[in-house]
Amino acid sequence: KKKPSEFDPTSVAWWKKGEPVPFLFLCLAFDLIQQESGRIVMTDIVCNLLRCVIHTSPQDLLPVVNLAANRIAPPHEGLELGIGDAAIIKALAEGCGRTEKHINQQYTVLGDLGSVAKAIRLSQSMLRKPDALTITKVFNTFHSIVKESGKDSREKKKNHIKSLLLAATDCEPLYLTRLLQKELRLGYGEQTLLSALGQAALYSEERSELPPEIHSPSEEAAKIVKQVYSVLPDYGKIVQSLLTDGIWRLPTTCVFTVGVPVEPMLSKPMTSVSEALNKFQDAGFTCEYKYDGERAQIHYMDNGSVEIYSRNAQRNTEKFPDVVAAVSRLKKGTVSSFVIDCELVAYDRAKQKLLPFQVLSTRSRKNVAASGIKVDVCIFAFDLLFLNGQALLQENLKIRREHLYASFEEDSGFLQFATSLTSNDAEEIQKFLDEAVDASCEGLIFKTLNKHATYQPSHRSRNWLKLKKDYLKNLGDTLDLVPIGAFHGRGQRAGVYGAFLLACYDIDNEEFQTICKTGTGFSRELLEESSTRLRSKIIPQPKTYYRHAEKIKPDVWFEATEVWEVKAADLTISTVYQAAVGIVDSDKGISLRFPRLIRFRADKDPDKASSSKQVAEMYNAQKNNHTNESKSSDEN
Ligand code: ATP
Repeated sequence: KKKPSEFDPTSVAWWKKGEPVPFLFLCLAFDLIQQESGRIVMTDIVCNLLRCVIHTSPQDLLPVVNLAANRIAPPHEGLELGIGDAAIIKALAEGCGRTEKHINQQYTVLGDLGSVAKAIRLSQSMLRKPDALTITKVFNTFHSIVKESGKDSREKKKNHIKSLLLAATDCEPLYLTRLLQKELRLGYGEQTLLSALGQAALYSEERSELPPEIHSPSEEAAKIVKQVYSVLPDYGKIVQSLLTDGIWRLPTTCVFTVGVPVEPMLSKPMTSVSEALNKFQDAGFTCEYKYDGERAQIHYMDNGSVEIYSRNAQRNTEKFPDVVAAVSRLKKGTVSSFVIDCELVAYDRAKQKLLPFQVLSTRSRKNVAASGIKVDVCIFAFDLLFLNGQALLQENLKIRREHLYASFEEDSGFLQFATSLTSNDAEEIQKFLDEAVDASCEGLIFKTLNKHATYQPSHRSRNWLKLKKDYLKNLGDTLDLVPIGAFHGRGQRAGVYGAFLLACYDIDNEEFQTICKTGTGFSRELLEESSTRLRSKIIPQPKTYYRHAEKIKPDVWFEATEVWEVKAADLTISTVYQAAVGIVDSDKGISLRFPRLIRFRADKDPDKASSSKQVAEMYNAQKNNHTNESKSSDEN
């Protein structure tokens, strides 16, 4: 049996053409990747894996891609396995005749539940050899797990897991467990998978329809799939199109479409109006109020149905029936379909006033009846991504805005266009910033208007710069951090956690890096709530992908499950904390001084927390500010 590293479509397959792909083939690819650290080799391995599948059993390509991405469906479908370690441990205990206590002990020693599952399964003798697992069997069982609900669902889910574990051999239990935990963590991310998919599709093309102007087809193929995925994040549609129409037609067969949310465009922080003026000197730009609410992408389909998606592509439609009604009422007669990018903000219609985010967060999340709404929201629309069957992403903001203004009626307190100012005058902008803050906004967002002003999904772009009032001449922004550990409280805080260990996320190394400890900014109630919630996330050992110094020893460690917004006085180099280690200093990290909790961010997943690169950028920006300040005071 050849491994996925040695692709040769004529001799490799150890299953017959058309037959289901064995799950072991994917696991062997994972095993090879686990031993590698270079991105090029990892891409090659995934590419070879996918080529084999396309060559022998193309019907399995979609589940293989999904499992390699550790997903079971596109994010907007909201299907999550939601399996905790406890369920896997129970299934393993029952299936393999071990006690849960024994498994937990092994887990503490090995630090990885997948390795425990593998060790246990390999030492277990079976009377009857189970049927080999296939990709489709695993993928379909994952879907069955998601579908189980109501009475006995916990038991049924556990039984599904048990049946998979009992059929798993070789290195399968290891990766099966990690897929269930949603922690594949092999050091390759979605971008690597997308490149590999592009290259695999290219090498599998029978037609030699290479466009003449392309010099490096494999690079171009990778680029195309990445670009297409950023506007249509749906493997189902992309795989289908690759198999039927090939790689070169992908940009025309798979385009941004109403009903599939894209990851929103994001902004970079800055610390003064003059910084923005310098950066945008040559491009026309505009400033808009930065509203303090919840990001939303509103999709209106030709058939009149509406969907609302959160910043991380979760379906939020049931939470906002009033927003559904408002857009349907306020779109002009000429409009048949659209996608708006906007901020939903809590609003007092009697006083015509914006209300803080905290008020919005009291709205219930599910099954809200229009009649029972206690907190009104106003839609502050700032972008239009799609109109009447046409994607507008490639248009400049000036044009997108004209379409936006021409397609909707404003109705105060229901739907308004983001307040904006287009000016080059620093004084005028400063005044506009003060007005934004007086109106309870966080500050301003500066956006390029005529040049370099297309909509860039999922990009934290230089073409959008945010300026927050609180952070002028300071850090520029708050940080979004993940609690990964805690210290028991004493005195008044006895019985709850007294402080939490927080981490940022390093995208390249796929690890959480400690950045500070904080217990400030919590009311007693909040502290109790977070302590209770996190207590159910305790793990016996820090994960192998938590980077922390030995000097910091929290009383408990947590799974990385949530994101907190934290404000700090400044950033300092640290020998104790590990954030951005290796970026600004070869072996020291960065930590926060006087960190303070602002709020929980239900709209962000842990891997979307502030990245190590962002932390390093903030540290450097702060250093430059200080240097400039001391320069100007020297000059005075
Ligand atoms: P933050 O904590 O500042 O919201 P973030 O990581 O959520 O940071 P950023 O790109 O830093 O995202 O800031 C942009 C956010 O500001 C958007 O996600 C959106 O929710 C909000 N926002 C408010 N007003 C606007 C506006 N006029 N244009 C774009 N985004 C806006």
